[in-house]
Amino acid sequence: MNVYDADRMADVLRPLDYAVTDTADDADLVILNTCHIRERAAEKVYSELGRLSQIKEKRDPDADRMIVAVGGCVAQAEGKEIVRRAPYVDMVFGPQTYHRLPEMIAQAHRQSGVVLDTDFPAESKFDHLPEQSAPDGYSAFLTVQEGCDKFCAFCVVPYTRGAEFSRPTKQVMGEARRLVASGVKEITLLGQNVNNYHGSTECSTESVGEWSLGRLIGELSEIEGLTGIRYVTSYPADMNDDLINAHRDVDKLMPYLHLPAQSGSDRVLKAMNRRHTSKDYLDVVARLRDAQPNLAFSSDFIVGFPGESEKDFEATLSLVRTVGFVQAYSFKYSPRPGTPAAANELQVPEKVKSERLGRLQALLNEQQLAFNQGWVGKQMDVLLEQPGRHEGQLVGRSPYMQAVHVDAPIEMTGEVVTLAITGAHGNSLSAELLSAPPAQDQTEKRAMA
Ligand code: SAH
Repeated sequence: MNVYDADRMADVLRPLDYAVTDTADDADLVILNTCHIRERAAEKVYSELGRLSQIKEKRDPDADRMIVAVGGCVAQAEGKEIVRRAPYVDMVFGPQTYHRLPEMIAQAHRQSGVVLDTDFPAESKFDHLPEQSAPDGYSAFLTVQEGCDKFCAFCVVPYTRGAEFSRPTKQVMGEARRLVASGVKEITLLGQNVNNYHGSTECSTESVGEWSLGRLIGELSEIEGLTGIRYVTSYPADMNDDLINAHRDVDKLMPYLHLPAQSGSDRVLKAMNRRHTSKDYLDVVARLRDAQPNLAFSSDFIVGFPGESEKDFEATLSLVRTVGFVQAYSFKYSPRPGTPAAANELQVPEKVKSERLGRLQALLNEQQLAFNQGWVGKQMDVLLEQPGRHEGQLVGRSPYMQAVHVDAPIEMTGEVVTLAITGAHGNSLSAELLSAPPAQDQTEKRAMA
């Protein structure tokens, strides 16, 4: 979502004659768009700011001033504290106010001292953003939902992104159509709890109502030229029938689902305030597999949550084996200021966390490699996204999010082609070109593969 937000910030600033540059050295404005989810992410901001201060110092403050801004969730959470630690910062703004960047910049030029905007404004930024500009590539992100009302005991998101909000359906459909018209083939719908999307239809011709994410995906799949739809991230307890049925009915919906479990221990899940047990999780997986037998699962796990015992951790390993996750992100529990778990006295020692993380990741890597190897000798439809590292090579994205390397002419970039998988690695596949099938055959082939 930060990638999406950063692109939208560029859209806001383009009418003011700002353009994106690759290096900070000669920039008029540098925005660090930050993440507060774990301590390490937040700390990176300060080391990056240190680097920027050196560049800023070399500039002439009258003729060639560089404005340094911190946006995103660290800005939201820390506010003025950022300026205390890094006094050369000119602007601090949260994830819900970046539509006001032009005013903030004007203010920063007028006044000395920091411009601070960490509101949760009543108006939605989406109503004030300019139209999204054409993206660089063939796959694009589209935020449909933001914020979170779940209050997991470990998580800062409700405090940094704010309450759950779904964008109206007409806005989302319009943005998707414009993306496809500018060449996008695959759209990933974004939200902190994307599967709880319930966008209002009030601006459409239909009478006032709501679309679920399943309904939205069905409608998006009607857009000609769009070949793939994904969504991330989902909350297991919000997995509803509409969405499960979309996995059965919508060919363009990719057969890959990121569904964070966090733990396999019911005791830990309860302490996390997750609202699902390991059985609930397995039931949802079974219902989804009934609807779409080709579905592969990915997940997020936290190890060393306060009070996690060896037995609890083993329940996580067991869940990983039972579901057969083909990919997952796993993290050591990181205490976040203001969250209930941070104050818990039963913190797990760092050494134990590291040891458990190592065991979990070894298992996940093993399963991921086995899944990838299972594709060797089979065929798969792949969206060829960009040139690879070697001459004559293209890199694509498989339906299962694997990077796929293939020798193919550059003109094939942006096409969905059926490839023969010839090799498997930890995170990627090698493939050879078959002849590109006509577009209408592709969903059929995917089902066969
Ligand atoms: N909405 C998702 C969470 C997305 S945040 C859900 O409900 O599951 C991305 C991931 O970061 C989380 O899934 C979690 O695994 C991890 N994470 C969040 N807070 C964390 C913390 N305090 N310590 C370690 N990992 C954390």
